[in-house]
Amino acid sequence: MNAPAPVQDLPGWDENAEVDLGPPHAVATEHGRFYSDPGTGVLLRSVTNAIDQLAKEGLPQGAATFTTDYMINRLPELLRAARDPDDLAAFRKKASFAYKEEWERRAELGSRTHRQVEARNLGAPIAPDPEVEPFLDSYVRWLSDFGVNLGTPGGPSDIKAAECTVLNRSLGYGGTSDLWVHLRFPSPTSPLVPKHRPRKVPANPLPTPSGLWLVDVKTSIKYPASLMRESFPMQLAALRRAEVALICPPECRYGAAEGHDASHEHPVPPFAGVAILNLRTDAYGFIPLTAAPDEEEQRAFDAFLGLHPVSDYVDDLDLRPYKPIQPPTRRDAA
Ligand SMILES: [Zn+2]
Repeated sequence: MNAPAPVQDLPGWDENAEVDLGPPHAVATEHGRFYSDPGTGVLLRSVTNAIDQLAKEGLPQGAATFTTDYMINRLPELLRAARDPDDLAAFRKKASFAYKEEWERRAELGSRTHRQVEARNLGAPIAPDPEVEPFLDSYVRWLSDFGVNLGTPGGPSDIKAAECTVLNRSLGYGGTSDLWVHLRFPSPTSPLVPKHRPRKVPANPLPTPSGLWLVDVKTSIKYPASLMRESFPMQLAALRRAEVALICPPECRYGAAEGHDASHEHPVPPFAGVAILNLRTDAYGFIPLTAAPDEEEQRAFDAFLGLHPVSDYVDDLDLRPYKPIQPPTRRDAA
């Protein structure tokens, strides 16, 4: 298998990790997350922001199930509230927003897991986070099972970059690479975990060339470790095709930075493979997507790029002037 080009060891990002849950250079806007290019000040749409244009079939069902359970668990309260219209209206409001609060809580748990994982990668001190501990345990098991050597803090490590902001200025997007990690496999393909083997399609082994891998870490308290979504190949194809990785001091984080220079920018290296690492409280699932950038991956990337004009159009659209008009037969129409 082809060995990837050697990469410079990049320091991970740790400054201010305690106070900022968003990745470096990320900016929250009313149109979702963007990355502020410290070289130009231009806002580049985030990879996941563009992918959010895809309707996610599972979301309405998930919200409906959560809301139904919420009400079943509060039946006595609902029955009491039903005696008074104001109480019932208040209950209705609370119940209909409950899933949003839960969604936000889960997203926040994901961010906290990323921070704990990053601290572990760097050997950096971090306050323990008991709720995140089971996810971190699964991560540590993955490191051990896949023979990932973190080395000593500051020394050489199999992890070449963590939580790294990457930009594609030519095509106008940015994102965060969770892990660039050197992985060694005993053979060019690896068999599937028996309990996750599909029944209706051939359970072929997946290509696992040794070399530098781009890995995206996903946490969930609900979905199985085998979870694979249609958006994942698009996301990884986009991250893989980013042009530069930014390793900037804190003063470069917001908008165009005077102090920003070429020494903060590193070319994104070629990757031997890309994968999803699903972290769960009791397990992990490491799912290689595609190894060499092939036709299938190109289609994923083209699909991702196709979402950009949709995102731009929707963001710019002003629906306010569009209202019903008066009928032409009406005499006083002005
Ligand atoms: Zn910089």
